[in-house]
Amino acid sequence: MNVPLLDLKQQYLSLKAELDSALLRVAESQHFILGPEVERMEQELANYLGCNYALGVSSGTDALLLALMALDIRQGDEVIVPTFSFFATAGVVARLNAVPVFVDVDPVTFNIAPKDLEKKITKKTKAIIPVHLFGQSAEMDEVIRIAKAHNLYVVEDGAQAIGAQYKDGKKVGNFGDIGCFSFFPSKNLGCFGDGGLVTTNDNMLAEKLRILRVHGGEPKYYHKMIGGNFRIDAIQAAVLRVKLPHLDGWSQKRRDNASLYHSLFLEHNLAAEEGKTEFDKKNKILLPKAVYQNSGTKNYHIYNQYCLRVERRDALRTHLAENNISSEIYYPVPFHRQECFQYLNPKDSEFPDSNFSAEHIIALPIYPELTREQITYVVKTIADFFTKNV
Ligand SMILES: *Cc1c(COP(=O)(O)O)cnc(C)c1O
Repeated sequence: MNVPLLDLKQQYLSLKAELDSALLRVAESQHFILGPEVERMEQELANYLGCNYALGVSSGTDALLLALMALDIRQGDEVIVPTFSFFATAGVVARLNAVPVFVDVDPVTFNIAPKDLEKKITKKTKAIIPVHLFGQSAEMDEVIRIAKAHNLYVVEDGAQAIGAQYKDGKKVGNFGDIGCFSFFPSKNLGCFGDGGLVTTNDNMLAEKLRILRVHGGEPKYYHKMIGGNFRIDAIQAAVLRVKLPHLDGWSQKRRDNASLYHSLFLEHNLAAEEGKTEFDKKNKILLPKAVYQNSGTKNYHIYNQYCLRVERRDALRTHLAENNISSEIYYPVPFHRQECFQYLNPKDSEFPDSNFSAEHIIALPIYPELTREQITYVVKTIADFFTKNV
């Protein structure tokens, strides 16, 4: 059996007629950049997310960059980021000549650890970028409390978490000053190229984001500000409009797949329960945990990735590959270990939980169209690896 990490072809075929006609509609219109198709997409996404303003942009990375520009982050400002995330989270800070300040992550959720966050605040700190990693909200009550206490901006990196909820049904992207999303094809809501979104509930910020998206000219060709080209194409908007009504169904399937993995791992005695943080005889693998899942606060994890931590990770990956199962490592190198950030003199021992995750984490296929047979095969292949010590 073959189990790819992601199979976008299946999703495309399931919506082929609608997607094809949406593409043709754009071709007929010959209106390629921003315009009515993009405005409709923005309105539909604002409704979906429950926010006042949503603006389509060129990518998730540009969403983050634009957000920081709108908040006037500049040279010498410090911006706090989790050290364990996709590169863009820290890259955008450094690109503005500001200083990314790294914080360790929580060993259960992989999200920024509030207890370490507060210690990193200085007089130069301007903003915090919590990342909702793998599709689960960061602990926003604590992040917002800390931000308020120190008068800091909050930019949510929700690139992997569109539709995820923190609690009480409120979707990520509504907690900070600006929310950022990505429509890269491998995200839960993916377009046919690069695309992204910024969200806010503040009308002044929305206006500034809108102007900076088109080089900062308002009116056109008159510049009080220096922005960039952060525009999204109509083709991407048209694709997103077809896919959006299916997003919650797809995310629910990912959640169902996660719970099937979970029960099968327990059945095979590879793990005792979710949320463990150390290996032992009963826990050859450490299962991810959707925190608060059962506590009534409605944390809603959308599983953009399903990541385990395992002993002998690299050998297991090879074993999976030999059995036609794809996996990936998100992420092998935390920011504080990246060569390009050594000028900041980060201290490796400050980040034990991120280091542990980087060394043991593995992402398994979790996409909505996976079958029960495929998941059963993945778990059995992993069980063989541990029990037969291959
Ligand atoms: C994908 C991703 C981004 C960047 O999005 P792009 O659309 O690829 O530029 C930023 N942050 C995180 C956490 C991501 O996963």
